[in-house]
Amino acid sequence: MNDSALSISKLKKTYSNGTIALKGIDLEIPEGSFFGLLGPNGAGKSTIINIVMGLARPSSGNATVFGHDVVSDYQKARSHVGLAPQEVNLDWFLTVRDTLDYHGGYYGMPKKLRKERIDELLEVFSLTEKADVNTRMLSGGMKRRVILARAMMHRPKILILDEPTAGVDVELRLELWKYMEKVNKEGTTILLTTHYIEEAEQMCDQLALINNGKIVKTGTSSQLKKAYKQKTLEDVYLEMVGRGELTRTTR
Ligand code: ADP
Ligand code: MG
Repeated sequence: MNDSALSISKLKKTYSNGTIALKGIDLEIPEGSFFGLLGPNGAGKSTIINIVMGLARPSSGNATVFGHDVVSDYQKARSHVGLAPQEVNLDWFLTVRDTLDYHGGYYGMPKKLRKERIDELLEVFSLTEKADVNTRMLSGGMKRRVILARAMMHRPKILILDEPTAGVDVELRLELWKYMEKVNKEGTTILLTTHYIEEAEQMCDQLALINNGKIVKTGTSSQLKKAYKQKTLEDVYLEMVGRGELTRTTR
């Protein structure tokens, strides 16, 4: 019985240029949780995600998604994950509809099912009017929505959102929060990376603080406050990364 959606053990990553991004990460993300990976820029959050997605190779250690190893059982592992990456990576020459359709096709969804799912997601993300527009013509906020819709297209069991609200206006941020909450309530496990303390505290039922390629502490917001003897999560964060980091990363 494995009730971990994502299980990471002793994960290390040194990039070919010598940068040590991960120094031995242990992380258990329970199925159904809304899990926040909170840490400053450069902490190693995206590196973890890239390894989980098979986009980067671990130097040592391992990770499994619903029991499937992300290296040796990569296709099964990946089939359970939907990723909204930090960098917008849409094909500018595809329409919104085709973006979703190709993604569904890649994950083996039959045509009829794809059509139904696309219509549903276009509606949910208020993209129906933009269905036949090339993605390069969309505003920044609209591109974010397409990325999220694409991540949800194949009904992944775990949704990974890498800094989904960085550089997003307040209105869309609130909309994304509402959507993430809904998806989580429906049973999808969510891994959210963020350097916004407020976002982590409001959205996540469990948190891991990450800094310099290491998990500093894991727990609920109140457990973390207790552990660091602090009144607010912001104070915990400051204790962990230093005040200079806070001003740098939330600017
Ligand atoms: P975060 O997502 O928390 O901001 P990253 O995982 O992107 O952190 O980066 C962790 C560290 O690894 C940083 O020092 C970053 O500069 C470095 N890094 C990230 N990607 C690469 C890469 N492709 N090649 C070399 N260094 C990288
Ligand atoms: Mg990142």
